[in-house]
Amino acid sequence: MGKKDLKEETRTIHSGCDLSDYKGIVNPPPIKASTILYPDLDAYENPNHKYRYGRNGTPYTNKFSCAIAALENGYAALPAPSGLSAITTALMAFLNRGDHLLMVDTVYPPTRSFCNDVLARMGVSVDYYDPLIGADIERLMNDKTRAIYMESPGSATFEIQDVPVIVKVAKARGVVTLVDNSYASGVLFKPLDHGADVSLLSCTKYINGHSDAMLGAIVARDAEVFAILKRATDNLGVCAGVDEMEKGMRGLNTLHLRMKEAGERALKIAQWLEGRDEVARVYYPGLESDPNYALLKRDYKHANGLVSILLKPAERSSVKAFTDALELFPIGSSWGGYESLLQPQYPTKCRTAVAWDHEGQLLRFQVGLEDTDDLIADLEQAFEKFDF
Ligand SMILES: *Cc1c(COP(=O)(O)O)cnc(C)c1O
Repeated sequence: MGKKDLKEETRTIHSGCDLSDYKGIVNPPPIKASTILYPDLDAYENPNHKYRYGRNGTPYTNKFSCAIAALENGYAALPAPSGLSAITTALMAFLNRGDHLLMVDTVYPPTRSFCNDVLARMGVSVDYYDPLIGADIERLMNDKTRAIYMESPGSATFEIQDVPVIVKVAKARGVVTLVDNSYASGVLFKPLDHGADVSLLSCTKYINGHSDAMLGAIVARDAEVFAILKRATDNLGVCAGVDEMEKGMRGLNTLHLRMKEAGERALKIAQWLEGRDEVARVYYPGLESDPNYALLKRDYKHANGLVSILLKPAERSSVKAFTDALELFPIGSSWGGYESLLQPQYPTKCRTAVAWDHEGQLLRFQVGLEDTDDLIADLEQAFEKFDF
């Protein structure tokens, strides 16, 4: 049976490059290396010598990268010390002084800070666009437009972008496309299958899945794109820690299972939240009532474990009474771990193309692997503290 006949879950579990590097050991020991010795001068002077220095890659880096590239149907991948580092490295790889970047308005706020600070200082101009713009993105392009950056679904409110259409418009004008695919974690959606050039992952989220490591990856569509990205990681010194990659590898073995559970559990919670009087709107693209449902059905396997709600307008003290009463949803950044979390969101501060003018507090829940009935009971008792 050839590997291409295997289904995705099988391939993910059996992915990784050259096990001969490890004498067939099923869980390759994480190789900890800075220095790699050369047998002689000929080897040192050979430009094709496989492993030169820890930062530029080891057999273990190679295994992790191959597994991630396989997950995303990419040509090859590069590890990064965090998702944000993967993102900033990829943007630096393609953008030069004078270039124009189209950036989605619902982008992860630290990515936005990078654009407004570092890219601005580099002389790159950035325009933010409505995530639902679709083919109209063409109107925002000019002679200087070098790249379009997507993040789908959008951070906090989960607008699904029409990635295939935007990629088509970009390709017609020779514009590079990058997609932050952390939400799908390589499982629910594969941007490279739709023609995007680069897929970016925060492996800190579902891929590691246990809230105890920072890790990222950059996935390239083809050899040409990969060469540009590799030059950037080499020049910028971007590499990931071996212990973190080992955690990422372990997470990959159960990733599909955890994503499926996350989607089912979050859908149940989202449906329950929809019936609550305290809630003005639920943001969950897996709900039939969500405006993004049609695109989710078209392009995604299902939604993930993130659910946001807009509370009805209320005093801050009432919002605080609700959030502080929650016992199973402690406040914390991040998502994709085994445990449930809550993170208040403040879109007014970080949206410019589409103004956020809702009065109520936006809250994002990460639905973990606790029993769903317990989670609902916790939300129910906390809502009793919420006056609106
Ligand atoms: C968390 C996150 C990142 C950044 O990843 P880190 O690993 O925390 O640096 C990027 N994009 C999205 C959508 C995220 O949620």
